[in-house]
Amino acid sequence: MPQAPDADEIVERLPDPVMVIAAGDLTDPSDRTITFANAAAQTLLRIPAEGAPLVSVLRHPRLLEAVDEGLADGGAEAAYETYGAQPRWWRALLRPLPDTPGGLKQVLLILRDETDARRNERMRADFLANASHELRTPLASLTGFVETLQGHAKDDPAARDRFLAIMAAQAGRMARLIDDLLSLSRIELNEHIPPSGEVDINAAVHDVMSASGPIHAQRGVKITPNLPSPPAMALGDRDQVVQVLQNLIDNAAKYSPTGGEVRVEVLLAPAGAAAVPSRAGAARLSLLTPDTPVGHYVIIRVSDDGPGIARQNLPRLSERFYRVEGQKSGERLGTGLGLAIVKHIVNRHRGGLVVESAEGQGTTFTAYFPVTH
Ligand code: ADP
Repeated sequence: MPQAPDADEIVERLPDPVMVIAAGDLTDPSDRTITFANAAAQTLLRIPAEGAPLVSVLRHPRLLEAVDEGLADGGAEAAYETYGAQPRWWRALLRPLPDTPGGLKQVLLILRDETDARRNERMRADFLANASHELRTPLASLTGFVETLQGHAKDDPAARDRFLAIMAAQAGRMARLIDDLLSLSRIELNEHIPPSGEVDINAAVHDVMSASGPIHAQRGVKITPNLPSPPAMALGDRDQVVQVLQNLIDNAAKYSPTGGEVRVEVLLAPAGAAAVPSRAGAARLSLLTPDTPVGHYVIIRVSDDGPGIARQNLPRLSERFYRVEGQKSGERLGTGLGLAIVKHIVNRHRGGLVVESAEGQGTTFTAYFPVTH
């Protein structure tokens, strides 16, 4: 059997800060010395491997209490926050150790950084609160109109028709929200499984154009494709790639002025090409970058001449329910989930997403997917 490394070596390399704390006088809280600190602890607390007085580096009362409890009883645990440049959440675990040969009490202290877990928990809670709020708004309107129809509008056919039309629109809005929420959770469930199909992007663009082209044509918005020949083939899940195109083209059309044009350009190029600015003078932000870029990508650029998005709003675009404040979006048909869905789909495909926008001039979204070989 190969020889296992020394236990000291292993502790030294653990990613969590690990320390040994010794106390001479248990009744004197200042008499606590860090007699061992592994590399992670030395870096985090900027202390030497041994000899630092505990209270000079770790001052949180809850932690100090737990250390005392650990020294007295062997085991203890404490959760606490630190407020540096960024707040962090920690869990301190204390485990018993035998007394030193000189009779000092000692205890093992392990710090676990729980910031990411806490942040995810917070995001889940915020998401639930936002989703409930978004559903409650059309529901409140529906309830209000039902009451009106049962009351004074009962015998007024004109009012009844008007209210029923509004109610149908609100019910449609709730249905769209639920569809988008379900879609998002389905995508997230499969996000770690890369897609294996092959998608003809040219055909997908044509499908989206025939599905929603007539709706946009009602506002005089024209969709102009510029597609490569032979058609570009991407590695992907067809329905999901269509959903990306649909969301980007619908957004571009929705924010286009009446009679405007949405340009959909598809090209085959190495990863670097997606990073080349395509709008002169526009602010540019990568909302998603592939971890390990592959050789070639199918690059899809959707451009409009709409109001554009201010530079400071770009980073939040793919957050769930985020909408740029003060921006008119027609009858507010959107759910605020479209770009979050786009980002998750592109991420599953190991692709990328870039936004470029200049206020008053328009916006270009670039999504890119790995090609099939
Ligand atoms: P929505 O369903 O509200 O369109 P999205 O997630 O698709 O939600 O988009 C989020 C927000 O980003 C929109 O509410 C809008 O403020 C802004 N946005 C998206 N696409 C465009 C665009 N082409 N031009 C201007 N603003 C856009």
